[in-house]
Amino acid sequence: MTQVSHPVFNFSAGPAVLPKEVLQQAAAEMLDWHGSGMSVMEMSHRGPEFISIYEQAELDLRELLAVPANYRILFMQGGGLGQNAIVPLNLAGRAPQQPATVDFVQTGSWSSKSIKEARRYVNVNVAASSEANGFTAVPPQSEWKLTPGAAYLHVCTNETIDGVEFNFAPSVQGDVPVVADMSSHILSRRIDVSKYGVIFAGAQKNIGPAGLTLVIVRDDLLDAALPICPGVFNWRAVMEADSMLNTPPTYAIYIAGLVFAHLKKLGGVAEMERRNIEKARLLYAALDADDFYKNRVAPEYRSRMNVPFYLRDESLNDKFLAGAKARGLLQLKGHKSVGGMRASIYNAMPIEGVQALVDYLNEFAGR
Ligand code: PMP
Repeated sequence: MTQVSHPVFNFSAGPAVLPKEVLQQAAAEMLDWHGSGMSVMEMSHRGPEFISIYEQAELDLRELLAVPANYRILFMQGGGLGQNAIVPLNLAGRAPQQPATVDFVQTGSWSSKSIKEARRYVNVNVAASSEANGFTAVPPQSEWKLTPGAAYLHVCTNETIDGVEFNFAPSVQGDVPVVADMSSHILSRRIDVSKYGVIFAGAQKNIGPAGLTLVIVRDDLLDAALPICPGVFNWRAVMEADSMLNTPPTYAIYIAGLVFAHLKKLGGVAEMERRNIEKARLLYAALDADDFYKNRVAPEYRSRMNVPFYLRDESLNDKFLAGAKARGLLQLKGHKSVGGMRASIYNAMPIEGVQALVDYLNEFAGR
């Protein structure tokens, strides 16, 4: 077994760092969960032990995000990309005539992928796009060309690759639900769930292991599926089966539940937000100190979770990454589609990790 002699800080965009306390608890409970004689992995999803784990996870998430009573929480599979198909298949039926028209705001790689997938099922209107500016901002709401009576509006409130984060909840005229892909910043800041019709998030960033996808959906949006929507992806069917229409990702739900309980103990989402603001400030200040590094995103839309940056002299990239790795600062290479570097600083990244990265940034820049 490899022994690591210094602390390691993992800046991966996802699957990503999880709270050490959670991993320790999972390790302690691995072979025998609460005297059941079983690992959570070995339990029937319909047995009383797992049902208690599932119910507590749902309750804790509801409390953490203050999810109103008229919203359902679904534990699904298929990831964020799965929801790109599942959302139109479940909501396009709201339109009196097919194909439905759906509005999108294009702010980076993930909203672009959502647009591409939705085109199979609906008529896509790109209401606003920052593509021409290299995805460095959220287009101001005053410039969005929304469709009156659209089936819904889709936004990605934190673009994981481009490092662009909404600092507001979209407001829409009339009865047009807002669908938000919050995969990479759910639970990192306070949100008003009632401003959204649907929120979805892959778990593998701020919640737990890959394989679990959360969907929070308003009651009245559960009956708008297209006839071609596969049964196993039909939100109403999933809701009526308590997310156990098929075998749910039980171990991922268990770990997510431990993360939710841990967040509650630390002070909930408001405390996470406070810490995330502090961490992001520290890191962006180091990147902005001179022109050795550059983050291209407009300051008001810079993500608190995913911080892409470039070295002025890109020929130093390999040297930068090797030096970082030697100091235990892992997975800083940027996404292959945009190059450069990226530091993901999710809830579970301690400020000590960000400070270690800042120290290295300063050292490498010769400050
Ligand atoms: N949306 C966002 C914002 C993401 O960051 C990701 C994954 N990086 C996805 C969707 C796709 O998620 P998955 O790989 O779970 O399908």
